[in-house]
Amino acid sequence: MTPETVGEEYVRLALAIDQHNPGYLEAYFGPAEWQEQAQTGGPRPLPELARQAAQLAGAIAHADGLDEQRREFLTRQLLAMQTSLRLLQGETLALADEVAWLYDVRPAWVEESLFAETYRLLDELLPPGDTLQARVAQRKQELQLSAAQLSQLIPLIHRRLRQLSRARFPLPEAESVEFVFVQDQPWMAYNWYQGQGRSQIEINTDASLYITDLVNLVAHEAYPGHHTELAIKDFRLAQQAGRVEHCLTLVSAPSCVVSEGIATCALAAILPDEEWVAWHAAEIFPLAGLAHLDAARELTIERALEQLNGAYGNAAFLLHEQGAAAVQVRDYLQQYGLLTEAEADHLIRFMSSPLDRSYIFTYYWGKKLVEGLLAGPGERPYGYAQLLTEAVTPTLIRQWTQA
Ligand SMILES: [Zn+2]
Repeated sequence: MTPETVGEEYVRLALAIDQHNPGYLEAYFGPAEWQEQAQTGGPRPLPELARQAAQLAGAIAHADGLDEQRREFLTRQLLAMQTSLRLLQGETLALADEVAWLYDVRPAWVEESLFAETYRLLDELLPPGDTLQARVAQRKQELQLSAAQLSQLIPLIHRRLRQLSRARFPLPEAESVEFVFVQDQPWMAYNWYQGQGRSQIEINTDASLYITDLVNLVAHEAYPGHHTELAIKDFRLAQQAGRVEHCLTLVSAPSCVVSEGIATCALAAILPDEEWVAWHAAEIFPLAGLAHLDAARELTIERALEQLNGAYGNAAFLLHEQGAAAVQVRDYLQQYGLLTEAEADHLIRFMSSPLDRSYIFTYYWGKKLVEGLLAGPGERPYGYAQLLTEAVTPTLIRQWTQA
């Protein structure tokens, strides 16, 4: 197999798996005839697809003239496809193995002692009240945004973050994002990349969205998070370099960890903390009728709360590995993650679907991975821009971090 044909074979295999598990391809913007061909004749037998995947893995390992970084990317993505095919054939895997083989990161239980500093900070910064959980819930109630406030704030946040991202990263000239409001979804927001540099970002107005997280949400989904990554990789890798494997995104693959790592670190890549504080104090809080908020204090609280995301993976272990009932998992998320009952239920819904149960780990471990790469003093040999422009895997990021 040549470097030209491995990409096509990879795409055709992904399209065939999608026939068994609609939604496996989160986005497809490759040749329409490949998709039509995959759809004709119905789904092909799973054992046949597993054999084809094994052959392709062998071909990628031995193909002459294949760029080594591309080989690493395709190899890890293909291991994920093989794992998805095992799951689709009814095999049950231990959750940590499933995550390791699908996502190229091995998750572990996050010790609750790591949350102690967050609890201490919150206790110091939040107004007095009953339990810490109740005080956080009170704060969230005050910060919750209505659909009208979202429609007013999103365009101005969109404009500024787009400008900052375009100045710093090689976004294609013709690219755009459209925000739409939806209801009744298991997620808060979702970026649907449609090809040709265009994304539609759905905001779920049923979910609780807070003024202190809104800039982060737009950075995560659009600039310089998911939309930015996909638009750059579509133009540079798929279209210019002919690496067709970048004309799709898979919903269970190492690329998801890299994407969520990019997205969770997106805001920090373009907006220093002091600018966040100045912007919220001068414009964002007053526009939402919340001019009395102390922006610096709110940012500290927001950062402290982020540390509790480690509890979400623990909840997945409880639910899928330790036989806990949904009501016990909800209690755990409320107690350790300081979530409201509605937020906990929303999260449990997200992690309950058998084929998505492991996705929850991509946020926490992706963030750790990318933060680890970007941390440290002085100029880094590898930075955020590399993650946006090159095909990378968690293994490769770990190697770069150690280098
Ligand atoms: Zn995301």
